[in-house]
Amino acid sequence: MAENDQLHRRGLMFILSSPSGAGKTTISRKILEADNEIKLSVSVTTRPMRPGEEDGVHYYFVDDAEFDEMIEEDDFYEWAPVFGHRYGTPKGRIRNALKDGQDFMFDIDWQGTQQLYQKDQQDVVRVFILPPSIDELRRRLEARAQDSEDVIDSRMERARAEISHWDAYDYVVINDNVDVCFDKVREILSAERMKRQRQTGLIPFVRELMD
Ligand code: 5GP
Repeated sequence: MAENDQLHRRGLMFILSSPSGAGKTTISRKILEADNEIKLSVSVTTRPMRPGEEDGVHYYFVDDAEFDEMIEEDDFYEWAPVFGHRYGTPKGRIRNALKDGQDFMFDIDWQGTQQLYQKDQQDVVRVFILPPSIDELRRRLEARAQDSEDVIDSRMERARAEISHWDAYDYVVINDNVDVCFDKVREILSAERMKRQRQTGLIPFVRELMD
């Protein structure tokens, strides 16, 4: 058996996107609870905090001036306007941590996905979660009761636009049942970790096997 340190692998950037209400936040929370090799990349946003949200946990909540300053300082991997507010992925310590085998989960939209993919194709895994139907999506948004009717309407409109980008993802999972969807997303994560190019420790390991 090889020493563990021979089997080092690169971390991956695991992106989960979906229209809001398709269950992505639940799925990402479940994965983070079940798997201690992956951490959430906490985004920065200018949108107001919702009830139950915590600064530094769900997002870093900043005002427009602070967001501008972060752009100026080149602090973002990517950022994009969504629903009239801005959202961005802070660089933080992601790049170095990937080298050490740390995986990161990104709950970002298609625009952010495109930007991350352009910067770092090799490390990015793109997963898109679809709702089982448009009616069900609306029902879930209404049940959440965190947003006004107007906001829900604009989210539904935006959902259709978001869904149109489904073909820019590596995997597409329909969230009919949250437990089944969770299992599927975990299987994707686990298979992606075993990709040959991520297993940077394989060369010495195989050399030893063949000696
Ligand atoms: P919400 O306001 O419901 O938390 O998120 C709205 C949308 O913004 C979601 O589709 C979410 O994936 C996206 N989003 C959250 N953080 C980021 C980010 O850092 N970058 C980008 N591009 N989109 C983000």
